[in-house]
Amino acid sequence: MQKDRVYTDEFYHKGMRKKLVDTLREKGISDEAVLEAINTIPRHYFLESAFDKIAYENRAFPISADQTISHPYTVAYQTQLLQIQKGDKVLEIGTGSIYQTTILAELGAQWVYTIERQKVLFDEQKAYYHFRRQYPNIKFFYGDGFKGLPTYAPFDKILITAAAPFVPPLLVEQLKHGGCMVIPVDEGEAQRMMRLTKLNDGSLKEELFDAFSFVPMLQGKSL
Ligand code: SAH
Repeated sequence: MQKDRVYTDEFYHKGMRKKLVDTLREKGISDEAVLEAINTIPRHYFLESAFDKIAYENRAFPISADQTISHPYTVAYQTQLLQIQKGDKVLEIGTGSIYQTTILAELGAQWVYTIERQKVLFDEQKAYYHFRRQYPNIKFFYGDGFKGLPTYAPFDKILITAAAPFVPPLLVEQLKHGGCMVIPVDEGEAQRMMRLTKLNDGSLKEELFDAFSFVPMLQGKSL
């Protein structure tokens, strides 16, 4: 994310985005609202300008602090599982490039609270005023995703975008009754995508989906 860059969304970007949406559809993403959000948000804005021509390939790219922007397929997959409704209060762990965050905001979440643990990335996110104006419903926090944001809880939806070694109990506490959390949980080499729904009686329903490969969720002191 470059502070002084001029962001333009050209015809060739739009064309590549349409192709990406077709690819995601072929790979099984069927939620039209999610596909529309991917078609709307210029992914190349969230990457260094060197990636301009390849920003719509279905792959991860490096961002600062040895992290990556998630594959578009992964973003679409997690977002589809979350089933964002207009007015939802959402917590995202792992802001990274802000791409996934923006998709959540675009889908009509009333608030997207997003936590980043690495100061370098958080400072870049702060400088990203372009999106701060367009999406005033995104609130950025520097902190530890394992702790969540108790002051703003409970949340309708919680999304974890890094590989979690276990389901953080404090995040389960911060989930609304009737709400759900989408979290890739570690199984060694890969992670299993899990959706945890907190039922109205407070019990948890667990559903398991496909395997993915995320960067690890960092434990301990914030950097
Ligand atoms: N959704 C982001 C994914 C970035 S990768 C995107 O597509 O761009 C995962 C992100 O989680 C990284 O930015 C990493 O720094 C952050 N992260 C790792 N551990 C964390 C933790 N404990 N709390 C909050 N963020 C964390």
